[in-house]
Amino acid sequence: MSAREGVVITSTGNHCVVRTREGELHRCQLRGRRGTRPVCGDWVSWQALEQGGVIEAIQTRRNVLERGDFRGHPHALAANIDRLLLVIAPSPSPDPLLMDRYAVLAHALELPLSIWVNKIDTSQRSAALTQTTAPYTRFGIKTLHGSALTGAGIDSLEALTANETVILAGQSGVGKSSLTQRLIPHLELRVGEISTISGQGRHTTSTTTWFARPQGGALIDSPGVRTLRLDHLSAKAVLQGFPEIAAAAPQCRFRDCQHRQEPDCAVKHAIATGEITSQRLENWRLLSAEATQTTATSR
Ligand code: GDP
Ligand code: ZN
Repeated sequence: MSAREGVVITSTGNHCVVRTREGELHRCQLRGRRGTRPVCGDWVSWQALEQGGVIEAIQTRRNVLERGDFRGHPHALAANIDRLLLVIAPSPSPDPLLMDRYAVLAHALELPLSIWVNKIDTSQRSAALTQTTAPYTRFGIKTLHGSALTGAGIDSLEALTANETVILAGQSGVGKSSLTQRLIPHLELRVGEISTISGQGRHTTSTTTWFARPQGGALIDSPGVRTLRLDHLSAKAVLQGFPEIAAAAPQCRFRDCQHRQEPDCAVKHAIATGEITSQRLENWRLLSAEATQTTATSR
């Protein structure tokens, strides 16, 4: 039989669930233990067996989202992503360091990053979040406001991300699951279907899953991106996530300026004029220290 094509919608242990272009789901085994393991979002060719199928090959990935473990080793979570959508809300209030982790990660993967300010239906004014999003909008990150609960702003989100594979990121409680439900009709049903095929009793929120969106494109729901470490990235990669600091630093008097007390520090100057926030500078310090430390210890 000839090989068929499909996308891996979830991958656990030694098998995965593959979805064909027609929308059929098949449980596929991996061929052998060696080589790259397919992850959620991978396009694969597979052969049908009497029951289920077997993965023949993984097509070249456009990108792969990795998460560093505690030793700084990368683990692939999902592949072929078009956009990282960072969800924030008035409550729980945004965690600026976490936001910058995602900004760094998006830059490292050359993934467009956008911000969805959720829960605008609540009395807590999401307008207060303009200060939080300002450093990002300043360097071109698109910010949308809406509500997963009422559906406000969803049309703009659909338009921005038309036909894209989007991965949601953000703190627990900001509304990622609610947004997923809003974007994927009959989500419960689909999750149930995947559980049945994969043979797992309960396939729920613990596994990274790829969901086709009705208008085209997909949504990847990944608990793995919710607790993110960047240990596998270099300090240089971290700086890319802070374009305003990267742009100012070359104008400092000293090449190795730490932007602390040095004279003629362009970064400090930019903070004084409001082009760079001190929060971003602090986060850059923390995240580069995290990266440098691991690079040093892993040698
Ligand atoms: P997650 O942890 O990011 O997946 O967040 P959930 O989707 O589980 O949402 C956390 C809580 O916020 C739940 O009680 C939701 O009902 C509520 N919630 C989510 N989106 C909205 C929204 O747009 N408006 C309001 N008022 N509540 C929301
Ligand atoms: Zn400086």
